[in-house]
Order: sequence, then C-alpha cells, then structure tokens
Amino acid sequence: MQWPRFMRRPLNLISVPTVVEVLPISKPGFAFGDPRQAAASLEINYGKGLLPFNAQSKSFIAPFPRQGEDTQLLLERLDELPKKMMVALYESKTPLWPNFLIHHSEGDGLNLQAVRSCMRHKGQGFSEAWCVLPAKKMVRLIRAQKISKQLFFTPAWENKRFLSTAVDYQRTLLLLKNTQPLVGVERITVVMPHYDDEVLQCGGAMLQALAANATLQVIWLSDGSRGVSSVSHKMSSQIRRAEAEAAMAELGIKNTHHLDGVETQLTADDSICQQLNNLLSEFRPQRVHSVWWADNHVDHYEANLILQRAWPQDLDATIAASGLWQAMPPRTVVELTAAQQQQKINALQCYQSQIGAVDYVRLSQHLDAYYAHESDADYAENFWHVAAQQYFDAMQSSQVKTRRWFG
Ligand SMILES: [Zn+2]
Repeated sequence: MQWPRFMRRPLNLISVPTVVEVLPISKPGFAFGDPRQAAASLEINYGKGLLPFNAQSKSFIAPFPRQGEDTQLLLERLDELPKKMMVALYESKTPLWPNFLIHHSEGDGLNLQAVRSCMRHKGQGFSEAWCVLPAKKMVRLIRAQKISKQLFFTPAWENKRFLSTAVDYQRTLLLLKNTQPLVGVERITVVMPHYDDEVLQCGGAMLQALAANATLQVIWLSDGSRGVSSVSHKMSSQIRRAEAEAAMAELGIKNTHHLDGVETQLTADDSICQQLNNLLSEFRPQRVHSVWWADNHVDHYEANLILQRAWPQDLDATIAASGLWQAMPPRTVVELTAAQQQQKINALQCYQSQIGAVDYVRLSQHLDAYYAHESDADYAENFWHVAAQQYFDAMQSSQVKTRRWFG
C-alpha cells in the first residue's frame, strides 16, 4: 500500500483528498451489487478477493447514495455494523466529498472520474473519488451531524480538514430544494469569480439566452493576477483579461465588467460590494448566474459572500448557481445541443493560459456529460435555481463559514 500523499500547493487549493493506490481497508465486502464496473481499482487491487458482504468481511463497500430512499437503505445497513468497521463509499451517480482518490488508466464513460482526473492529474486517465470512514462516523456524516473529534476513533491517515468540510457539504445537499426551470427572461447577469468560470459554469445557458434575445451582462470579480505564474501579476491580469474578452466575442457578448479583486484573495470588502451593487442596481437582472458556496475553492466561496452583501434590497431576481470544483447533484438540468456544446468549447479554447495547467476542455465535456446522464442529451448544464432570498437563507443555514484551502 502506498501511504496517502497530501497534495502540495497549488493543487491543495482545489482538492482536499489524498492520493492512494489501494484503499486503507482490509477484507472488503460489497453491498448493493458488485461495484467493480463502477470502480476499476477494486478489480485491480482485490480481484477475486472482493466478495459480497458477509460475516467474514472486515470492511464495507457501497455506492455513495442519492438523497431519499437510497440514503435510508444505506443507513439501515450501516447501523448494523460494528462502529469502528471501515466503510468505503465510492462515487457513482451522485457526487461525493472525497477523502481519497485512486488514479488509474481504465475507465469508460465514467464522467465524474474524468472530471476529477482533470483537476488533479492533468487530465490523464481516471480518478475515482472515495469517502472512507469508520461506520459510526459515516452515519453521522450522511445525516449531516457534527462529528466531534473526541468521541470517535481517528485513523492515522485521517485528513483533519476533511470532516468539517464534508459535513458542510452534506448539510448543503439537504438544502438544495425547490429548484425552478430556467425560463426565458429579458436581462441576465453572470457574476463569476474568475475568467473562464462563466464559460465553464453556464456557457450553454448564456448561448440559449442570447438565442432567445435576452440581454446579458458578465461581471468578473477577480483580476486574473495569479493565473499565469511565469509572468508578473500585472502581465497575468492582462493576458487573462484579453482571453476573457476573446471568449466573450466568441459567444457574442459585449456588456462586460472587471471588478479586479485580487485572485485567490477575493474578499467581500466595501469597494467590490459597492461596485457590484451599482451594476446590479442599474442593470436590474431578472436572473443572476453564479457559483454555489460548496464549490471547493476559496474564491468561489467568497464570491457568494460578495454577491450576498452586494445584492440590492429591492432587486427581485432568481439565482442560478452551479458547481465546478465540486459537482452538484442534478437539479435544473439544461440540455445543450451539439452546436452549443461546440461553441462553448470554442470559447473555452480562448483561455489558452489556463488550459495548460488543467485540461478544462476535457473537464467541461465530461462534467456536461455527467449533468446529462439522466436526460436524452449528450451534454447539459446543471443549476440550483431559486429566488435570491431562498438562496441566501440556505447559505446561512448551511453554516459554511470558513474559507477553504488557502493559507
Ligand atoms: Zn473559478
């Protein structure tokens, strides 16, 4: 077994899991059907040693459950296990918050595994996401209950940052209710933390809105100064701003604004909130696109605080939030035509300075393929789309208060 390897900066900005070749579990038994189709690492590492769960099993393997009935079935099984027995849940149809990643070359149509390999392995191969915890802890996590360190056995490999953020994520999932379809409106504002987020998160929705004659406004919160490490901050900003304008030209959007918060240090300060408030007050969008607070990136979390603080009191609009660094379970799925997906990729190609570090083209295609997995289309985007007040109330209830992965 290879001992878990913690990710170095800057990868730890966007990833909490440790990378292993074999899970830290022994004599695994699986529940709910043979998982080797969905998790090739099990075939590679356990082969015939992988049996259905029985009295000799020393650890328990199951897919991460969808909310509702699947979750109840899993909880019933977990309640019967000894409290320290290791439970390993793998990512299948529903995104999970992982504490382990297993990277390998095999895979076929496993879209989330391709997305995760793009984030952490330069787009090569496939990365399985796993959540491994002792049974009693896993039950509390799935129920989104706080997990006190004193009460539970802590394995030596446990990543201290994992539990609190995993519980935050679980609590957030329970709050994603009442999503609405994206209906045609006249004015849409896209507020994104970084250059390229707008194409990745809602490029297809923007194209559909333009085709329906909506007016679009795009606002970037950060300055792109930390995105090209081989040049000065100023030069990095210039390069990325030019890329963003080229991408917008590709989509056919002219109304753009740069608020120039410092990338990786975005803060909901008076200046940026006032600027955003002015733009929203003047343009009066009926829908605002942004990123959800559970996206695993410090600036994406902070963008939510900025949007909340800047929101004009008299603005009656909806928020369509999406997930990139942490995929969102399907809510409002917007199917893209092949032409729209191609145009989205063309716009993404304008961000050449970023594509070298992360294979955003593969990431975008596989994420959009994942979001389409329950529909007839090949590609789709996915949003949690609710009234702004519901969005901000849920954010408050999620109790997600800390910044992630910086400093
Ligand atoms: Zn971003």
